[in-house]
Amino acid sequence: MSELRKFIFDGLPVRGMLVRLTDSWQEVMRRRVAAGQDPQHPAPVRQLLGEMTAAATLMQSNIKFNGALVLQIFGDGPVKLLVVEVQPDLSFRATAKVVGEVPDDATLSQMVNVHNKGRCAVTLDPRDRLPGQQPYQGVISLWDDAGRPIERFSEVLQHYMLQSEQLDTTLVLAANDDLAAGLLIQRLPVLGEGNLSAKATQADEDQIGRNEDYARIAILAASLKTEELLQLDGPTILRRLFWEERRTEFDPLLGERAPRFACKCSRERVRRMIEGLGSEEARDIVREQGQIEVGCDFCGMAYRFDAIDTEQIFVDTAPGSSSLQ
Ligand SMILES: [Zn+2]
Repeated sequence: MSELRKFIFDGLPVRGMLVRLTDSWQEVMRRRVAAGQDPQHPAPVRQLLGEMTAAATLMQSNIKFNGALVLQIFGDGPVKLLVVEVQPDLSFRATAKVVGEVPDDATLSQMVNVHNKGRCAVTLDPRDRLPGQQPYQGVISLWDDAGRPIERFSEVLQHYMLQSEQLDTTLVLAANDDLAAGLLIQRLPVLGEGNLSAKATQADEDQIGRNEDYARIAILAASLKTEELLQLDGPTILRRLFWEERRTEFDPLLGERAPRFACKCSRERVRRMIEGLGSEEARDIVREQGQIEVGCDFCGMAYRFDAIDTEQIFVDTAPGSSSLQ
């Protein structure tokens, strides 16, 4: 079963999180097959999407944002798009769009950054967005500070967290068809940090020791091998890595509280989309294709509007109805 475990290292400004998505991740794979889209994505794409899903779940859980966290890569290679969306209750959906050949040993660059035009972004879309309010979007660089492409997605995010949040983060990600998993270790900001103009204080002195604590724990975390993350259960992973560290574990999210697959698509949303096309274009599609069919890339659901359904949409918004204005 899927699980998410949070813990802190006693007396140290270091926290951690471990996520293992099993049934919920398998559901993403199953939906894709059920949708009749080419049976499966190539293996490296499945792995990358799984790693992104684990990472997005950790990020949402880390910031507890009241809205959707969306992690996206817009690729310039054979993989055009990867999207993961995680809600505050940790329900998530994920999809990828692949148009070209992806070799089994493809690197991140070979998939999404062939011409150095790949883009990665994280979007925070508040649940109760005010009219005119834009979602927050952060650009995640696919390059390191020396301008070289980064080839592991975990390192892409580590680099981002350090650059944008000034947070030391260690991230280990792994995914196959059965499991998407991730371990995150983060140094908590301590008082006075970032205040460069301030003179060194006792607190700063203390912080040096604390950084050493983080460094030690980060080395332990980074020693976790992909196979171990994929094969061992949560408690075993944490015990083996941190058996010498005093750790307090919070109530794990298991069962119904665990991260799970859920899609937000609905017939009503598709109806509004068709409405947005306008009656002329919608009727043209019905004339040409007999109906309007819209498939959801996330869950495989197909929504069909025949001629009568389509007319109904525009009857509902006929003159006199305010939604036409
Ligand atoms: Zn859907």
